[in-house]
Amino acid sequence: MPKKFQRRIENFVCQHCGASVSGDGYTNHCPNCLWSRHVDINPGDRAHACGGLMKPVNVEAESKEYIIVQQCQKCGALKRNKAQKDDDFDKLVALSKESG
Ligand SMILES: [Zn+2]
Ligand SMILES: [Zn+2]
Repeated sequence: MPKKFQRRIENFVCQHCGASVSGDGYTNHCPNCLWSRHVDINPGDRAHACGGLMKPVNVEAESKEYIIVQQCQKCGALKRNKAQKDDDFDKLVALSKESG
């Protein structure tokens, strides 16, 4: 029986700031600089061929969580990513102020 949900745990080196990130299977963004890569069509599927760097452009507060809005520097696509508990909170706050 194939599993319905495949959790992929990948470690990666952030292409923006060079931090080593331990993946938890749910996020691929860097907790240090909040950048990620455009590799998913749906979260976690790694099905997108773009591979561009996703820059955090906005932060939205949604009830008890933060959503990081990232824009691909290659194709311009916008994606929303839930902030993770390990993310740099000061950067989240700074980003939300920056974007107004
Ligand atoms: Zn980084
Ligand atoms: Zn892209």
